Amino acid sequence: MQKVQLKWKLQETKDYSVQRHCSNCGRTVRFTDTMIRRHNANGKNIYRFAIYKCDKNHTWNKKLEIYQAYTEHARVVEEPSEQPSQLTIINIKDYQTIGIEKITITLADVQGKFRVDKIIADQIKDWSRTDIIKRIQEGKIRINNEPAKPSTRLKTADEIQIDL
Ligand SMILES: [Zn+2]
Repeated sequence: MQKVQLKWKLQETKDYSVQRHCSNCGRTVRFTDTMIRRHNANGKNIYRFAIYKCDKNHTWNKKLEIYQAYTEHARVVEEPSEQPSQLTIINIKDYQTIGIEKITITLADVQGKFRVDKIIADQIKDWSRTDIIKRIQEGKIRINNEPAKPSTRLKTADEIQIDL
C-alpha cells in the first residue's frame, strides 16, 4: 500500500488577517498573513514587507518598516527568522492519482488547542468539514490507530491516520 508521511507542528497563532480590497478579486476580502517576510533594497533603503494572501491566493505586500541600509542593515540580518507556521495543504485528488491510499501525519509539536476535525478540514480542501466528521466517525480517520471523535484534541507526538 502506498502511503504518504507528513510531519506537522501546530502552533496557536493570533488571527493575522485583515479585511481589505483585493484588486484581483474586485471586492473586499480577507487577507491572511503568510508569516513570510521579504526585504527589498532600494538605493540605501531596505523595505521590509509582510506577505499577505487573500483566500484566492492573491498576494498583497504590506510594508512594515524602512531601514536605512548603512545604519540598520545589521539589525535586519540579526533579526531571528520568523518561522512560517504553514502546513502542507493536502490535495486528496493528487494523492489518489498517484495511488496513495493512506496519509500519516506525525505531530512533532503541538502548542495550543486543536480539534482534529478542524485542523484536518483546514488542510484538506477536497473534503468538507462534514465529510471529515463522517470519516472520523467511520474510523477512516484515526489518532494513534484508535478511533477518535471529531472534537478530540491533538497533542504532541500524536499520529493521525487518514484512509483515502
Ligand atoms: Zn484576491
